[in-house]
Amino acid sequence: MTYGITGRKCSRLVIRDGIVVDGRGTPPKGPMDLVIEDGVIVDMVRVDDVARNKYPEDWQRPEADEVIDASGMYVLPGLVDMHAHVPLDHTKCGPRGMEYAYKLWLAHGVTTVRSMGFDVEDELYEQREVLRDNPELPIPRLFIMHGCRPDLQDMTPERARESVKEFAGLGADGVKVIGGYSDVLAAICDEAARMGLDGGVAVHLSLDSGIDAVTASEVGVSTIEHTYGIPEAALYGTQSFPPDYNEMDELARFRESAWNWIEAEQNPERVLDVLDLLVENGTVWDPTMVVYEPSRDLDRAKTLEWNRLYGVPPLRETWKPTPGIHASFYFDWKTSDEIAWKEKYRIWMRYLSEFFRAGGTITAGADAGTQYTLYGFSMVRELELLQEAGFHPIEIVKMATTNASRTMGLSRLSGGIRKGYAADLAIVDGNPLDNFKLMYGTKVEKFLDDRVTKVQAGGVKWTLRDGVIFDCDQLLQEIAEYVQEFA
Ligand SMILES: [Zn+2]
Repeated sequence: MTYGITGRKCSRLVIRDGIVVDGRGTPPKGPMDLVIEDGVIVDMVRVDDVARNKYPEDWQRPEADEVIDASGMYVLPGLVDMHAHVPLDHTKCGPRGMEYAYKLWLAHGVTTVRSMGFDVEDELYEQREVLRDNPELPIPRLFIMHGCRPDLQDMTPERARESVKEFAGLGADGVKVIGGYSDVLAAICDEAARMGLDGGVAVHLSLDSGIDAVTASEVGVSTIEHTYGIPEAALYGTQSFPPDYNEMDELARFRESAWNWIEAEQNPERVLDVLDLLVENGTVWDPTMVVYEPSRDLDRAKTLEWNRLYGVPPLRETWKPTPGIHASFYFDWKTSDEIAWKEKYRIWMRYLSEFFRAGGTITAGADAGTQYTLYGFSMVRELELLQEAGFHPIEIVKMATTNASRTMGLSRLSGGIRKGYAADLAIVDGNPLDNFKLMYGTKVEKFLDDRVTKVQAGGVKWTLRDGVIFDCDQLLQEIAEYVQEFA
C-alpha cells in the first residue's frame, strides 16, 4: 500500500488568527491563536483588539517553530462522518481505493469516520493498527462498527451474543445491524453493553425485519441510521403498498419508500410520540439525507461536477442504472417519483426539527459510495441538507462534531475545540457558517473588484488529525492524479 503524501507532525504548533467555531454550539469567536503540542490543544489565546488593549504591557503572542497563518479563516473541529463504508475490496474504487477515500475525507475536514460494516473488516482492524503506528499517514480515525446481518445468518439470541463477543475480541467499537428479529436485536444490544462497546449498536431498520424505531429504541440501540423504521412506527399497521409490491425489487422499494413519511404525516400526533420516545431513551438519529438525494433530482446527481473531477471511473460505473445491482435502480425513474421524494424530504426534514426541539440528538453521516454519493464531498452536502431542514449552521457544526464524538464515547474529541482535547481540526478558507459550499474541494468562484477577474476561493486548507497537518490542496491533487490513472 502506498499512501502518497504524509502529514506533518510537529511538537509545537501555533494556528494564528483563526476564528474558532468550537463545535459545542456556541457562537464563533476570534481571532485566536491555538497552541498545539503533541496533538493536543494546550492553549487558546485571544488576539482580538479588546484582549490586546486590556493588558498591553504583558500581552504576548504564543510562539512556536511551526506556524499556520489562518487569518481570514475559520477553524472547526474535525468533522465526523457517522455513516462510512471504507472501500476495502480493491475493485469498487480501484487498487488504491481505500487510500483514495481516506484522502477525500481528509480533504473535506473529516477526521473521523464511523465504519458501518459489511466491508472486509479484518483489513479495517489492520488499518487501525497501521494508523496507530504511523500517525502521519493520510488516514482518518477509524471507529469500527462490526457489521451483522442476523436475518442472513438465521441468528438466535444465543448465537447473536456469541457474535458480539467475537466482534469485541477482534477490537470492534460497536455493532451495526441490518435486519433480524427483535429478540435477536435485544440480545445484541445487551451483549454490546456488557462487553463495554462504546459505540453501542447502530441499526438500519429494513422493512422486512418488521422492527420499527420504537422497538429498536426500547431494546437500547444507540443510533438509528437513515430514516427507516421511524415513520413506520407511526403508521397503523403496514404502509399501503400496491398489491404487486415486492420488497426485493429495489426500484419498487425505493419508489414506495417515498410514501413512508407521506403516509405517516397523516398521523402527526403518533409521529411526535415516536420521536418523544426516542428522545427519552437517548436514541440518536443519523439521517444520512445525502445518499437518497438522487431520488428527488436524478439529473442533478448525474451531473455533479465533483463526481466528474474526483469520482474514480470504476466507482462511477457502479452508479450507472443497472437492474440487479444494489442501489442502481434509477433505470425507470419518473417525474412522479421525484415529486413524491421531494414531498418526503419536506416531511422528513420537518420531523428532524421536531426531534431536535424535543431534545433529540442528531448527527451527520453520508453513507457515501453508492447512488452518486462521493466520499468527503457528500459530508459537506449533508451539512447543507441539515441547513435546508432548518438548523442553524452553528448547530450543524455541533451535530457533525461533538454530537458524534459523544455518541461514540470518544472522550478526547467530545469537547470540540477546547484546551486539553485532541487537535482534530478543519481550517476553512472563509466562513462556512455563511456558506457551507466553501468546504467543497471544488471550491467556489468569486469575481474580484474589477468584476472581470475570476478566482477560486474557499476550500478546507488544512486538516489536522491528532495534530498531524494535512495540506488539503495536495490531497486533492493526489486524488485527481489517481483518477487520471484510469483514463
Ligand atoms: Zn450504509
